[in-house]
Amino acid sequence: MITLKRISSINLILSIITFIREIKKESNVGRQFTIRGWVHRLRKQKEKSFILIRDEKGDVVQTVFQSEQVSNITLESSIQVTGILSVDKRAPEGGYELQGKNIEIFNISENFPIGEFQSLDLLLTKRHLAIRTRKLISILKIKSTILKYARLFFDNLAWTEVQCPTIVKGSIEGGSTLFPINYFDEKAYLSQSAQLYLEAYIFSLGPVWTISPSFRAEKSRTVRHLAEFLHLEAEVPWTSMDDLLNIQENLVTFIINNLKKERTDEFVYLNRNISDLNITPPFPRLEYSDVIDDLRKKDFKIEEDGKKRYLHYGDDLNIESERMLTQQYSTPIFVVGYPLSIKPFYVKSDIHDENRSLSADMLAPHGFGEITSGGLREDDLAKLKERIRKEGLDQNTYDWYLDLRRYGSVIHGGFGLGIERFLRWLINSEDIKETVGFPRTMSRISP
Ligand code: ATP
Ligand code: MG
Repeated sequence: MITLKRISSINLILSIITFIREIKKESNVGRQFTIRGWVHRLRKQKEKSFILIRDEKGDVVQTVFQSEQVSNITLESSIQVTGILSVDKRAPEGGYELQGKNIEIFNISENFPIGEFQSLDLLLTKRHLAIRTRKLISILKIKSTILKYARLFFDNLAWTEVQCPTIVKGSIEGGSTLFPINYFDEKAYLSQSAQLYLEAYIFSLGPVWTISPSFRAEKSRTVRHLAEFLHLEAEVPWTSMDDLLNIQENLVTFIINNLKKERTDEFVYLNRNISDLNITPPFPRLEYSDVIDDLRKKDFKIEEDGKKRYLHYGDDLNIESERMLTQQYSTPIFVVGYPLSIKPFYVKSDIHDENRSLSADMLAPHGFGEITSGGLREDDLAKLKERIRKEGLDQNTYDWYLDLRRYGSVIHGGFGLGIERFLRWLINSEDIKETVGFPRTMSRISP
């Protein structure tokens, strides 16, 4: 059993604090334990009061006291309780409860504004308190475990983790979603992606990856766009489209398989049936032009200038078209070969078809849509210069980037995975805001 020896801050008596998850065992019944945490739920009756305590690991256990012992206790008060473990089938979350002997109070909470059923708006406004709800605790733990296994995946491949600046001069994904900032006497932006910097690293470190926030001033309110999101990006020299797709499907599968083992309780709490997450590579690869044909056959239309029309070659896929496309799948798919015209300046074109880009997006199934984007990068100096010129970008800003094609250019590529997009699918959540501790959107910058 893991126990922690700590000094209680109240009376400086050495107490042995046990985590709740360690005590809920048949063999512990009749033994005395001291736990500490916060009052998660409270039911006061005439004689007895039932306190559901949540400890610092987010686990809960019921404790029972004589009501007069705990008359001043309120929801979210911080307390330390000593009691004897007993079994009571009626006790929530496992049927164990502590028969309270002693209670110490760290702080009596004021009237806690969050109850069991609250509007999403209140939960967002009081987010600093709402992150104490079991739902958010479960989601945040799953997120943390995604990052743990992403790191392990790249570590197993011996790829180097690097860091890139988040204050930058240039745009990667186009000017419309840039956040400008005042940088001393210059204008700068918050980074939309670390990609250009990752490309610089491959010449000295080979395959590299990073995890950092990316910023997009998304003007539309959607259920899958945040203004700040966590971006896992990787870049590899001497690679091919096939290699890049293999890496992505292996990464996603590796993370999911480990999550299913390590976060079972959290998925159960979230009512997420993890057998829906049985996926095995290779994921289907669909050619963009076939996808457009398929969506036309399905009678899918988009709205433009107040009118409905069919998709044609050259339209980007969006939330609605991806939802329609992925509805029929229970495994992620790749869409490959998007038209060059809808891709940023750095995307490499297919030598067999100049209009086709060597790019791929991974779309999550059951309507969730894009979770990764990637492909090969244009490695030819003259072509890249021309693309920068055609898109009307400032040559000076990208001169350092062009150096990467001047000094030992090699074929290379990479991808970016949106962690919250991935998590949104994994927990089957409609709204991406649920996947972030403190979401940043067009209408929300506080708390
Ligand atoms: P979309 O077309 O859905 O707006 P994108 O193609 O602009 O996304 P990329 O530039 O390809 O996005 O970014 C790489 C990945 O980062 C995406 O596949 C997605 O998982 C994630 N991502 C991009 N924008 C956002 C956002 N605003 N909020 C959350 N995740 C995002
Ligand atoms: Mg994309």
